Amino acid sequence: MHLSRFPRIRFAHLSTPLEPMANLSKLLGGPNLWIKRDDCTGLAGGGNKTRKLEFLMGDAVQKGADTIITQGATQSNHARQTAAIATKMGMECHILLEDRTGSKDIEYNYNGNVLLDQLFGASLSQFPANTDMNLAMAELAEKLKAQGKKPYIIPGGGSNVVGALGYVNAALEILGQANDMGLRIDKVVHATGSTGTQAGLVTGFVASNSLIPVLGIGVRAAREAQEANVFKLAEQTAIHLGIEGVVKREHVVANCDYVGAGYGIPTPGGIEAIELFARTESILLDPVYSAKGAAGLIDLIRKGHFKKDDNIVFVHTGGSQALFGYRNAFDYPNYR
Ligand SMILES: *Cc1c(COP(=O)(O)O)cnc(C)c1O
Repeated sequence: MHLSRFPRIRFAHLSTPLEPMANLSKLLGGPNLWIKRDDCTGLAGGGNKTRKLEFLMGDAVQKGADTIITQGATQSNHARQTAAIATKMGMECHILLEDRTGSKDIEYNYNGNVLLDQLFGASLSQFPANTDMNLAMAELAEKLKAQGKKPYIIPGGGSNVVGALGYVNAALEILGQANDMGLRIDKVVHATGSTGTQAGLVTGFVASNSLIPVLGIGVRAAREAQEANVFKLAEQTAIHLGIEGVVKREHVVANCDYVGAGYGIPTPGGIEAIELFARTESILLDPVYSAKGAAGLIDLIRKGHFKKDDNIVFVHTGGSQALFGYRNAFDYPNYR
């Protein structure tokens, strides 16, 4: 694997820290919990999409693009990070937001990531749930081409073989840090959605023969579909890297028991995880992704899924900017 063969524009703050969570580990009575701070990738609040965007924007520039089109849910962190880097690179940015939750909450619809998308000067449009968003992006691209623009479409979550390279690189980064520290990693756990993060991590850990297993905690699809989608992208990513066939189906493991009522709808376990991380480690999670991932991790710990002396790395994929869109998920008394 030689990532320098692929176009990349460097704007992420890398390497992100790999830190122990001593307080939380103690509170839960083991295993030893570590956190990979991909909430600190540096771009406009950070998050996992920044790593993908380094390769995606490299590809966009190589293809002569002057306009970026992407899509996501209303409180998409991917949309925020894309809007930020497009602006910095002097490109126009069109974001198509899908109303997946149907929420009428003013905070959800206008605060958090939506406020930041607008702050970065992106043009926003909203579509009802279950719209064919890829078709909507293709149609917009045709319209912009007719106006003489050179649009580049980034799929939802930046999850294609190009974006996944960002997480192949992250796997190598984690492995290097662990080897430098003398840390034996028994499992890597993270929230999985549009699949690029897990596909990249699995490909990187397998192709480096590290034997580090990854567990994705689902935030939307059922297990079978999620694992199949992650595996498909991992297979394609390996082909893109010129190492076809390295990833096997059994390398892809997801647990989708923590989705709750649906994508973007907070769960009691997720809210508890947000409070636990905030009050033990002073780390901010988000209700859509990282909190559901953490809720899965915490529940599996309580059920005795891990050995007490296991070293578990939770990849913090970011998202705390969405907290302000979810103010009403926290029933804190008003202060006076
Ligand atoms: C997008 C996102 C994820 C999921 O990553 P995928 O690559 O889409 O699976 C996890 N956490 C946060 C905060 C995200 O924004």
